[in-house]
Amino acid sequence: MAQQGALKTLSVELQVFAADRDWLQFHSPKNLAMALSVEASELLEIFQWLTPAESAALSTDKLADVRDEIGDVLIYLIRLADQLGIDLVEAAQRKHEKNRQKYPTDMVRGSAKKYTDY
Ligand SMILES: [Mg+2]
Repeated sequence: MAQQGALKTLSVELQVFAADRDWLQFHSPKNLAMALSVEASELLEIFQWLTPAESAALSTDKLADVRDEIGDVLIYLIRLADQLGIDLVEAAQRKHEKNRQKYPTDMVRGSAKKYTDY
């Protein structure tokens, strides 16, 4: 299934944003994968050292920071997938199906073990 709707619209907007600034030259898959990891780490940094309870009760300002970093992560994920010709929704659906097969409900319910440990 071809990428559609909001993700496709965003993908085109991000492509135009980069092209208008002559930044496509920097958008190699390697650079985009690195940028994605950096943004994921910026997201993680917000939660660093918080207790589980604190992480579930963020202030309005911290929640805004999380929202920004989630946006950054999605932006680079979309750019990376676009540069590699990968349909994000299809990739997620395929992986989700693999996970369903690796983790049958009756075998794994309530457990956080990795499939290799079953
Ligand atoms: Mg960021």
